[in-house]
Amino acid sequence: MELIAEKKLIEEIEKNSQLLEKTKNTEEKIVLISYIEGLYESIRNMTDHNIESRENTLNTNQKDLKKYVKKIKIYNDKWIRDFTIFKNFHFKYTSQLIIHTEKLLWDTKKEIKEEKRPCIQEMYFQKEEFYHILLEFMKSLNLEDFYKNMIENKNIYPINNIRKTTARAYTLHNPITKQNNIFIKNFEYNISSMMRLVHELGHAYYFEKMKFTPKEYLKYTNSYYKETTSKLFEKLYLDFMINNSIRKEACKIQNLDCLENNLAFLSFSFAYSLLDDEFLWGFRDDEKYKRKQESRLSQFIQDKAFIKKTVYDFDKLDVRDNYIYMYGDIISMFLKNDVDKEGLQGKKIEDFLLASKRNFNTKYLQKNSMTPNHYLKLYKEQLKHLKKIIVYF
Ligand SMILES: [Zn+2]
Repeated sequence: MELIAEKKLIEEIEKNSQLLEKTKNTEEKIVLISYIEGLYESIRNMTDHNIESRENTLNTNQKDLKKYVKKIKIYNDKWIRDFTIFKNFHFKYTSQLIIHTEKLLWDTKKEIKEEKRPCIQEMYFQKEEFYHILLEFMKSLNLEDFYKNMIENKNIYPINNIRKTTARAYTLHNPITKQNNIFIKNFEYNISSMMRLVHELGHAYYFEKMKFTPKEYLKYTNSYYKETTSKLFEKLYLDFMINNSIRKEACKIQNLDCLENNLAFLSFSFAYSLLDDEFLWGFRDDEKYKRKQESRLSQFIQDKAFIKKTVYDFDKLDVRDNYIYMYGDIISMFLKNDVDKEGLQGKKIEDFLLASKRNFNTKYLQKNSMTPNHYLKLYKEQLKHLKKIIVYF
């Protein structure tokens, strides 16, 4: 690889190190340090160069780094506190969904014999075809300029380094320069890479719209709305492919896989909503507490291994991430419906973007009739739509 890409990332590090030297503002320092570290990490992911972060960047900023760690801890603790406030709401919401979606999804899967996978030709593209389809999809959302900018500025980094294991895909955002960099691990010109790229474009689009200040960006780390536009882009993309008969069959399977993943997020979120506040607050090492949680969960859940995993592998950041993906899926399901009617530039999306700056609140969901029943209605429509597609093998 990809020396050009590495050179470009090093230039980006240089540029931001200079910004870091100049700034006096703590929040700015924090986001710059974490951005620069992300860039170093990305170079290590994509090359075999064991490039070390420049020590003076970190040394001269020890005090700020300590502040950063402290701030993140405060944000994380606050997250759990907010979570317990809404725990009852989450419980009601997820319990209504889980009873129905689980059965609906398994019944559909049985009916359409999902175990048959599409053949390999279905999954792969030529390079030009790959980028052309993406362009057409982005055009359908009126995001041609946004997409062309990302491509022309070479801000998308396909990583294909089998020796390194990293997250599948991620977006590095800089709230000071507003730069977005997308990294796709194990990149190939196939459906799976395209889908992951679309997901990350959803994140980049969100940052572009939000224009976060460094302070807002730090708060965003714990936002329930973090995965909403990325999930929304996935849904819009799958519809686009299926409705235009592009790799329709592979996309149908991809769509079912997404529904299955979302069901897993929902299941864990439901289980977490059953845990006692004391347990969530940190009295977790006591065996007595663990057994109490187990017996509480077993009143609602039959799967013993699942219960054990929920209680014994408990990590408050897992709880957070599960909820972020779950609400990302739920809210994006409603938003997709709005985008189908009024486009991505419509009022509902604007309302969402505004709401996403605030902490989680039930009012936004209620005001926009984002109820479990409404979700189930959209869910059934989605399954009906998928069932109509005949898979030929
Ligand atoms: Zn994401």
